[in-house]
Amino acid sequence: MENKNVLVTGAGRGIGKAIAIEFAKNGYDVIINYNGSKEAALETLEEVKKYSNHSMIVQANVANGQEVEAMFQQIQETYKKLDCLVNNSGITRDILCLRMSEEEFMDVIQVNLKGTFLCSKQACRLMMKKKQGSIINMASVVGLSGNAGQCNYAASKAGIIGFSKSLAKEMGSRNIRVNAIAPGFIQTKMTEVLSEEVKKNLVNQIPMKQLGDVEDVAQTAIFLAGDASKYITGQVIQVDGGMLM
Ligand code: NAP
Repeated sequence: MENKNVLVTGAGRGIGKAIAIEFAKNGYDVIINYNGSKEAALETLEEVKKYSNHSMIVQANVANGQEVEAMFQQIQETYKKLDCLVNNSGITRDILCLRMSEEEFMDVIQVNLKGTFLCSKQACRLMMKKKQGSIINMASVVGLSGNAGQCNYAASKAGIIGFSKSLAKEMGSRNIRVNAIAPGFIQTKMTEVLSEEVKKNLVNQIPMKQLGDVEDVAQTAIFLAGDASKYITGQVIQVDGGMLM
């Protein structure tokens, strides 16, 4: 039987890496996207290869339309199809709004929101041929609640939620499902920068009294990719230990 395949953007480390490995364990061929960190992407590939023989890495800045097009061209030539896309790439440029430069605002919007749009558009074209597919977009609880110091990031994540719901409405009749995951605070390089005091305060606000693991998000992604969620679209699933409810 033909393997399913998945493109995971930003899969060299953190949540993206955990998602790539979880999909490989579940029998998917994994396309591991990276932008600058080739070594990290190769390390993910090493892990993925334990479970899947037809996986590969592919470089592309998701904010660049031409690079995204070239990445999908490569996918089309290699696999002739795409079963699942996980738009995971994301950056932060945290600073209070009054001090935020236009560049700091736009950089985050370009990678997080425009990147999600560019990859989803290309993925839909491939998925429509088979009349099936699942797109999973990485939002954040901050896109639902807002967060001081993250006007750019929160706007990008709220945008991803609106985008996901709109695309779910456009693609439902083609059997392409679009959902978002809104993680709370997950232990990765992105949250490593927080001081111990900030982390302690955060943990106090979480009913489950702990930060999340990358595997918690990966398990949610595998659920949203497969038949177990075949009647679920346009939803935002919070993986946050109950932090925002
Ligand atoms: P991370 O460790 O900082 O990893 C970010 C990934 O995004 C890297 O692999 C990076 O690859 C990739 N990336 C950045 N810019 C890119 C670009 N222009 N094109 C392609 N890839 C790019 O982050 P993480 O904590 O795993 O977060 C993953 C996702 O979950 C993000 O969307 C983040 O906003 C979201 N999230 C995280 C948390 C959390 O607590 N960690 C909470 C809520 C939501 P390169 O190094 O190759 O550029």
